[in-house]
Amino acid sequence: MTPDPPDLDHDDRPFDAAVVGAGPSGSALAIRLASAGARVALIDAGRFPRDKLCGEYLSPEGVEALGRLGLGAEVARSGGRPIRLVRLTTPRGRSLEAEVAGPDGRTGLGLSRSALDAILLDAARARGVLAFEGTRISGPIVAAGRVVGISGRGEGGAPVSIRSTVVVAADGRNSSLTRRTGTSRPRSVPGLRPRLFGLKRHLIVPDDSADEPASTVGLHLLPGGYVGACRVEGGRTNLCGLLPERLSRRHRGDLDALAGAVFPGNPTLSALWRASEPLGPWKTVAGVRVEVASPRLPGIFYAGDARGTVDPLGGQGLTMALLGSEVLAPFVLRAIAREGADPGLVREAIRAWHSRFDRRVLLCRAFHHALVRPSLVDLASLLGRWGDDLLSLGFSCTRDPARLSC
Ligand SMILES: Cc1cc2nc3c(=O)[nH]c(=O)nc-3n(C[C@H](O)[C@H](O)[C@H](O)COP(=O)(O)OP(=O)(O)OC[C@H]3O[C@@H](n4cnc5c(N)ncnc54)[C@H](O)[C@@H]3O)c2cc1C
Repeated sequence: MTPDPPDLDHDDRPFDAAVVGAGPSGSALAIRLASAGARVALIDAGRFPRDKLCGEYLSPEGVEALGRLGLGAEVARSGGRPIRLVRLTTPRGRSLEAEVAGPDGRTGLGLSRSALDAILLDAARARGVLAFEGTRISGPIVAAGRVVGISGRGEGGAPVSIRSTVVVAADGRNSSLTRRTGTSRPRSVPGLRPRLFGLKRHLIVPDDSADEPASTVGLHLLPGGYVGACRVEGGRTNLCGLLPERLSRRHRGDLDALAGAVFPGNPTLSALWRASEPLGPWKTVAGVRVEVASPRLPGIFYAGDARGTVDPLGGQGLTMALLGSEVLAPFVLRAIAREGADPGLVREAIRAWHSRFDRRVLLCRAFHHALVRPSLVDLASLLGRWGDDLLSLGFSCTRDPARLSC
């Protein structure tokens, strides 16, 4: 990656847009804005390529969205693994399988976040976006009650400030910018499920027959949670789960001890874990919830997880980040043309987001609640082929309404 310019205010003109966060939502949005002629700064605390906690499964719709960004060739070269099936397994050793390939036969993709996010950031730079890595934004610059830029610290802790006509918070779940400029509310009923934490590690599975079958994402259910497995490029397998936080407390945060005690609760997961060699340390994130945030100050839009999260089990987070940039870009461009994001425009953007994604968020929540009860899956597996069809129908309903087969 190219080195950072030392001075972010490298000329006196403010940027048209400052996008905070170079994950899929921020980079995809930056690509769209720059392609439409905007002067865009893209700022991230990390240095790329960087690993990220994620199941690293991208749905067929997400792959299509990358194609619309002109990244089909990069994705084809990435070594990502095509995904056609989701397989649920239960502690009793039962299983269900669902088709996730689109009606047109298009497959999903198992691709590491270090590869996916670097592809997007490189493409943003190639479209003329000024990208600043290693720069942590601490808050907005507010003048006369509106957001007019952002400030934070760059390399070596040097203070930085960036002025822009529009600011976009794309800094992920637990966004510090949304905390400082807006309000967020949970979308799950409090008390209906335990506090959950996410964990992730890459594995090498020397015995291919013990690995997650090719073209399949495994969701291995445990009481109150699950651990997913998905092959990605470079002969690695992603292991990523969502489990009750009390399990982490019980094992005093020692995730190897937790895995040794909890994974044997599902025979399929247990066999995979025993046959594998872990690569690198665990990554974790606490307090995984479904929430939605809205700005209360003018001048700022929210994108991706910073705008709203979705239950990870449906594998829709990355897709929503990419599709969300398509929804948001026209509003940001209108705000740049009007020299600022007024509250009416921000409200319109929020309505567009809800009409595109509410159904998906609801379905993924229903999925989560139904599927983390392994006994329900045991029951559905007794229906044989019908159980599989039911699950396939559920997954197809997480797609855009125009493409539904349900
Ligand atoms: C356990 C778990 C498993 C998941 N598995 C999947 C899956 O398999 N498939 C799927 O589609 N989705 C999955 N998701 C969801 C998916 O990871 C997110 O929806 C997706 O990463 C959202 O992208 P984003 O660009 O909005 O945010 P992020 O990917 O979180 O990117 C935010 C960026 O902002 C940067 N940043 C944060 N704070 C600052 C700051 N103050 N200053 C500067 N930069 C900052 C970060 O460094 C980061 O690069 C999973 C989520 C969890 C919790």
